[in-house]
Amino acid sequence: MENIVELLSQNGRRDEPGPKTTGQVAHEQAFSLAGRLALVTGGGSGIGLEIARCMTQAGATVIITGRREEVLKEAKQALGERAQYLVNDVCDLASIDGLIEHIETTFGPLDVLVNNAGINMKKPALQVTDEEFARIINTNLNSVFALTRAAAQRMVARRRGVILMISSMAAYYGIDRVVAYAASKSAVEGMVKVLASEFSAHGVRVNAIAPGFIETEMSRTAMNSDPDRKSRALRRTPMGSFGQPEDIGRAAVFLASDAARYITGASLPVDGGNSIGF
Ligand code: NDP
Repeated sequence: MENIVELLSQNGRRDEPGPKTTGQVAHEQAFSLAGRLALVTGGGSGIGLEIARCMTQAGATVIITGRREEVLKEAKQALGERAQYLVNDVCDLASIDGLIEHIETTFGPLDVLVNNAGINMKKPALQVTDEEFARIINTNLNSVFALTRAAAQRMVARRRGVILMISSMAAYYGIDRVVAYAASKSAVEGMVKVLASEFSAHGVRVNAIAPGFIETEMSRTAMNSDPDRKSRALRRTPMGSFGQPEDIGRAAVFLASDAARYITGASLPVDGGNSIGF
């Protein structure tokens, strides 16, 4: 090992970097979000906060939304200058056109929409009421369509834009006691394929990230109350650990960037191998 380090050093590769080559600049530009405007729903906490953080680090201006102003205010402070927040309940479908209009009038054309806001509920299917089912479908699916339609109308007209959905392993395989959640995420996966096929000719890409088990408030609530579920989730994850919100953030930056310009209609598992685990 030491020899390799020495060798690299002798070849000058560990010295201070010289001027960037054209290839290096092009490479960095491809992965950069400099000058882009992104909206991350549910960006005040958990996965959404880390998507927002990674996107601001990649140079984007990011608007985060959610229902709790205090949470958003704190997140904005942590994210810094390039972040702004707006209080918005995605279930208020009537507010969505106005939200997109307000963002574009105030901050400029929206380049990236990340449909991250979501809720879950763990209950045996036979006990789930119509109201509970509808609440989850409204938050995780109906709002996603309404927001995507409002943003995509403008993106399609400009022939430029990226839409990201946050799906779940619940759309990939059967997980007990999350019937409404699984229905909503499976529908989102279907929506990605239809929208990618409709929007591709208009310069708008649509993709999903399917997180495995990621350590956030949502998963802590689900796992800590159910140690058996926790150990089952870990056992079928080949990498043997839960993911961090930042893992989703980095994948979101990639999919939103020009580096992913030929990727659309895809669902990317970011799951430590969970989706292919035994
Ligand atoms: P959290 O519960 O930690 O965060 C959810 C965020 O969504 C909060 O900021 C919340 O803010 C916001 N939100 C919830 N309902 C609404 C609403 N009606 N309007 C606006 N914002 C809302 O969850 P995660 O970070 O874990 O989850 C984020 C996404 O990732 C979800 O779509 C989830 O399904 C998905 N996911 C998560 C996994 C995990 O292991 N954690 C695994 C697979 C998918 P507020 O309450 O202030 O409105």
